[in-house]
Amino acid sequence: MSDQAVRNLIIIGSGPAGYTAAVYAARANLEPLVFEGSVTAGGALMNTTEVENFPGFSDGIMGPDLMENMRAQAERFGAELVRDDVTAVDLTGDVKTVTDGEGVVHKANAVILAMGSAYRELGLPDEKRLSGHGVSWCATCDGAFFRNQDIMVVGGGDSAVEEATFLTRFANSVTLVHRRDELRASKIMAERAEKDPKIRFAWNSEVVAIHGDAKVSSVTLRDTVTGEEREQETTGLFIAIGHLPRNELVTGQIDLDDEGYVLVKDRTTHTNVDGVFACGDLVDHVYRQAITAAGSGCSAALDAERFLASLD
Ligand code: FAD
Repeated sequence: MSDQAVRNLIIIGSGPAGYTAAVYAARANLEPLVFEGSVTAGGALMNTTEVENFPGFSDGIMGPDLMENMRAQAERFGAELVRDDVTAVDLTGDVKTVTDGEGVVHKANAVILAMGSAYRELGLPDEKRLSGHGVSWCATCDGAFFRNQDIMVVGGGDSAVEEATFLTRFANSVTLVHRRDELRASKIMAERAEKDPKIRFAWNSEVVAIHGDAKVSSVTLRDTVTGEEREQETTGLFIAIGHLPRNELVTGQIDLDDEGYVLVKDRTTHTNVDGVFACGDLVDHVYRQAITAAGSGCSAALDAERFLASLD
């Protein structure tokens, strides 16, 4: 198809949401064009090791293998997959335009947004290297790997306290590392954490280095008041300092909530713009799991299919 012809559907994103939308749309003969992204193709699970909670894999599966399977499934049914970034979109008209990394403009009657959400990082040199080897951004995903261990959570807001409390089910102890001397979390959650015998606090502290060859073995903490540094042993470091939904492409064109997530109507994937659908972690600040992202990718494809049928 020429890049100037109007397609049925363009999908932006290749995590569980984008690939699942692609499988459904391709099987419905919509011949979707999928922009996978360049360096981040495959999405967040490309940065992890074992995924134990995606249904259908009773022995678990490595994150990159799961994503390669999803990609192959979408390709098998005729989705056109492109390892390129979308650099601009115009979603306002009946025909939507999507510009790729080489400046080529693609047109479609419907667009599915599945760009995901980035985890805020500490920005330390060994953080990425040890991701999946002791460094984690998701207690629900990885907590069970830390049974009877002494681990840490970085952050002081509601999600950090929630992660720490959840992790006490598995860990021997959880040290909450916070830059200040009191939590930002809501009073009730903070009080619950302070009463929990398994939760310890490293107040006025920030992580300035992560150590370990194959796995995390310790961190260096700096006192934010005195500047003094100390090394503390730990086998797990959960980073819970916030999320950044990847909304740059659509800001100003699509309604977002106060935290920057794309807003969808009720329990659908419809955005405020006709023909534009959104799914996965780009819309979800509650569940943020591969399976929920995949589920909403399926919904987005079905919503897009019905929308396109209504144009005939
Ligand atoms: P993502 O997976 O983030 O994918 C977004 C996609 O959008 C990427 O492919 C990116 O390339 C693409 N994209 C973004 N912008 C553009 C653009 N401009 N042009 C083209 N493409 C673009 N969940 C679990 O259920 N179990 C686990 O064990 C688990 N472990 C995890 C471990 C780690 C280290 C991390 C980071 C996350 C983990 N998660 C886990 C969470 C899970 O990965 C996410 O909930 C899920 O990947 C979200 O899917 P998504 O499709 O919405 O977004």
